[in-house]
Amino acid sequence: MQIIDGKKTSAEIREEIKVKVEKLKEKSGKVPGLVTILVGEDPASQVYVNSKIKACVEIGMHSKLEKLDASISEEELLRLVNQYNNDPLFHGILVQLPLPKHIDEDKVIEAINLNKDVDGFHPSSVGKLVIGKDTFKSCTPFGIMELLKRYKIETKGKHVVVVGRSNIVGKPIANMLVQKEEGANAVVTVCHSAAPDLSIFTKQADILIAAVGRAHLITKDMVKDGVVIIDVGINRIDAREKKKGYKLVGDVDFDNVSEKSSFITPVPGGVGPMTIAMLMTNTLKAFSKLENIN
Ligand code: NAP
Repeated sequence: MQIIDGKKTSAEIREEIKVKVEKLKEKSGKVPGLVTILVGEDPASQVYVNSKIKACVEIGMHSKLEKLDASISEEELLRLVNQYNNDPLFHGILVQLPLPKHIDEDKVIEAINLNKDVDGFHPSSVGKLVIGKDTFKSCTPFGIMELLKRYKIETKGKHVVVVGRSNIVGKPIANMLVQKEEGANAVVTVCHSAAPDLSIFTKQADILIAAVGRAHLITKDMVKDGVVIIDVGINRIDAREKKKGYKLVGDVDFDNVSEKSSFITPVPGGVGPMTIAMLMTNTLKAFSKLENIN
């Protein structure tokens, strides 16, 4: 069994981007810029946003945080997005979700300039992904694709079973893996809560991707020998031995399933750290495109 080390891979990717950013700066005198728009005080969102900003700064990108009061109107937020759509200093716009209930998230995401949609959530970016056109890929599934590539895990003709069909993980990863292209070309099954017996499907998986949000849903008896496990889930469970009183675990019963697997991502330290690396990748791509420089 080999551990897929997302923390190490993410650090490698960010180092590669840092070198590219330095070179592009020498060539053009410009650096990629990412603006992050955070509405309200959601603690989890604040943690995510801080780590995104930190990554930008370490890489040498220009970063700005627009921290807005939860009471901001939809109209004001749309105006701000539009301001950044036209600001040449910023090549990527990220609106941290969730937004307060009085704001229509779809409207805000659709307002983002397609060329700056580094989260890949705009419906046009998603549509392009489905039909196999070049686009911004949403960061968590893109991170999974990168892990499979860097660990040289064959996907062509393999049966990938995805558990979970969310718009941010399950559906996009299934669409990326089914494409007729290098690093994909898999046979994909997508499962969800209406599956009568999940194990009928998971037992057939050469590669199992769990994106559910249920601690230890996937057990040893549900997978075959040699399976590749990608565990996207992040779940808090009580752990008295820990200072905080809890620990993070995935959707997969790691200790037991790892015995049967050929590759497995841990939680934490697997898929999680890849999301930011791919956000940086997308911001660099946006910069190259908008500034017409490579
Ligand atoms: P989500 O929107 O809640 O979707 C969960 C999916 O799992 C749904 O499609 C649901 O089915 C399905 N599901 C629920 N119970 C099931 C069951 N018993 N059997 C089969 N399918 C079941 O979740 P998400 O946003 O995709 O996130 C999934 C997990 O990944 C969470 O733990 C989240 O924290 C984590 N995550 C991690 C990262 C990262 O590492 N960077 C990023 C995003 C998410 P229905 O559609 O039928 O309801």
